[in-house]
Amino acid sequence: MVIVFPEVEDRRSWGRAHRARHRLAWPTHPRAAADVLAARGDRSVLGFGLGRSYGDSCLNPGGLLIETRGLDRLLAFDAERGILHAEAGCTLADLLATVVGLPAPGGGVWCLPVSPGTRFVTLGGAIANDVHGKNHGHMGSFGRHVLSLRLLRSDRGLLDCGPEREGELFRATIGGLGLTGLILEATLRLERVPGLLLEVEDLRFDDLEGFYRLVEESAAWPYTVAWVDCLARGRGLGRGIFSRARYLEGGPARPMPPAEPRLSVPLAPPVSPLNRWTLAAFNALLWRRLGPAGRRVRTLPWHRFLYPLDAIEGWNRLYGPRGFHQHQCVVPPKTAPDTVRRLLETIAASGQGSFLAVLKTLGASAAPGLLSFPMEGTTLALDFPERGTATAALLDRLDRIVLEAGGRLYPAKDGRMSAEAFRAGFPNWRRFAALADPAFSSAFWQRVGPAADRRVLERAA
Ligand SMILES: Cc1cc2nc3c(=O)[nH]c(=O)nc-3n(C[C@H](O)[C@H](O)[C@H](O)COP(=O)(O)OP(=O)(O)OC[C@H]3O[C@@H](n4cnc5c(N)ncnc54)[C@H](O)[C@@H]3O)c2cc1C
Repeated sequence: MVIVFPEVEDRRSWGRAHRARHRLAWPTHPRAAADVLAARGDRSVLGFGLGRSYGDSCLNPGGLLIETRGLDRLLAFDAERGILHAEAGCTLADLLATVVGLPAPGGGVWCLPVSPGTRFVTLGGAIANDVHGKNHGHMGSFGRHVLSLRLLRSDRGLLDCGPEREGELFRATIGGLGLTGLILEATLRLERVPGLLLEVEDLRFDDLEGFYRLVEESAAWPYTVAWVDCLARGRGLGRGIFSRARYLEGGPARPMPPAEPRLSVPLAPPVSPLNRWTLAAFNALLWRRLGPAGRRVRTLPWHRFLYPLDAIEGWNRLYGPRGFHQHQCVVPPKTAPDTVRRLLETIAASGQGSFLAVLKTLGASAAPGLLSFPMEGTTLALDFPERGTATAALLDRLDRIVLEAGGRLYPAKDGRMSAEAFRAGFPNWRRFAALADPAFSSAFWQRVGPAADRRVLERAA
């Protein structure tokens, strides 16, 4: 079969600050994926799900992107044991519309054990970044619930792997940034929950001590997350709103997610409406929304709590034509309170506030992947509009603070961390590199992987 790969001008990731020219392949059957790999010539290859990674880990400039959305069959679901077998291009939204909410024997319903803050990610993408959710303390990361994978490699063909079979390759593929081959299929264990309604409590906190107090008090709540006002300084530094949620018994088994988002941003405005004045107004509004009591209790369908941003289609375009960067780090428990304070002070002093500033704690569950991002500690995620050197300088300062504290940066959100920063945060990276597929690459990997060795040596000299 002759395969001609169409060239596209650009493919962007979610932050829209990174774009690259690629050739594209869109296989709709695993055999076609193998043909694509065989016909790649000397081009490097990378799997691409829904491009919800913010930076350049899902881009492969000048190479071939294998889009996986055509590989989206749900192959089997064992409703007795909650075990799902599906192709890697299935999205979490597909699973919400099919298996999530099906009754579990003995009571309750089946649910995704872990989900990131959007349902528009593929299974392959969720595995390749070993994503985490607001329930990391209770359920760990996504990879912990993956029982097996079918992987297509350029050098070894089709391989089935799991903890006991090709175990090292399995651990490299979970959180492996798409570099160990193309994931074709995955088997996943779902979680049994009482129902798909959540009791949600929002609580204001005045500073970081208040945040950590609420974390401690909320140990029994499966879901916790906080918004922080990153413009606040002085005594208000670290103030925010803490949300916690737990399952309600009973309730409708299937509160189906709305088929379409409720709002849409079809085009990027020429000038972003997100600036320090709108941010100050937005933060003041959020802060006051809970009223004098500083507390609100609600009942929400599971998906409304998990995916608030999915209600606005294309919200990433609000940052205008230059796009934005997300900076997400995790720092260990011992250094976390002081480090988060230093990060917030640095941001407040820079005057470049972040609209989305999300603070969460991650639990002690051992990370299943060699390059898994989650580790025990506190994670802070921030969005900054792309404003050239000022933004780059701020992000570099934040990186240094994180690394000094023994933390790491999240590759799924990154398009600029240095090789040194990556290597300090992911000490297993050489072990991982030995398992990477020689035909697979990405812009991220070119910057931080073995190809960067010479640059690292020169900078160290
Ligand atoms: C609004 C929003 C909220 C988010 N919230 C969270 C969060 O709470 N927690 C969190 O951890 N992440 C979060 N993310 C990040 C997101 O979950 C990850 O970037 C996820 O990997 C995106 O999946 P995707 O299908 O779009 O993959 P892409 O972004 O297209 O690709 C991601 C990586 O997966 C690889 N890949 C994709 N498919 C395959 C395959 N079949 N085989 C091999 N490799 C493959 C790619 O090569 C790339 O390295 C969020 C993103 C957004 C936009």
